[in-house]
Amino acid sequence: MTPICPACGCSLVRLGVIRADAVRLEHRGQELLFSCRRCAEVFGEDPDRYLGEIADWIVCPTCLAEKPKALSVSISHEGRDIHFCRCPGCLEEFQRRPAELLGRLAA
Ligand SMILES: [Zn+2]
Ligand SMILES: [Zn+2]
Repeated sequence: MTPICPACGCSLVRLGVIRADAVRLEHRGQELLFSCRRCAEVFGEDPDRYLGEIADWIVCPTCLAEKPKALSVSISHEGRDIHFCRCPGCLEEFQRRPAELLGRLAA
């Protein structure tokens, strides 16, 4: 799953922050990635609230929008469930170049 900054709710890939550049914080044995140092500070004020808010969020591989699962559609692709925003165009675009878009999410 592609990381979402728990403080601002932005996917790091949409912000252009690669994993190596993300700010890391250990929280209850789990490593969290943040878009910037100030987001990590905001998170520290109320970690459980922020983690709860993004707990079921997905990132559309095509437009990179962050959505709660309830506002997404999913398809099975090579044995994995991939969630999209509801825009049919995003699904069509994904089907044209799935490897490229999944590769971008993994970066
Ligand atoms: Zn952030
Ligand atoms: Zn989309």
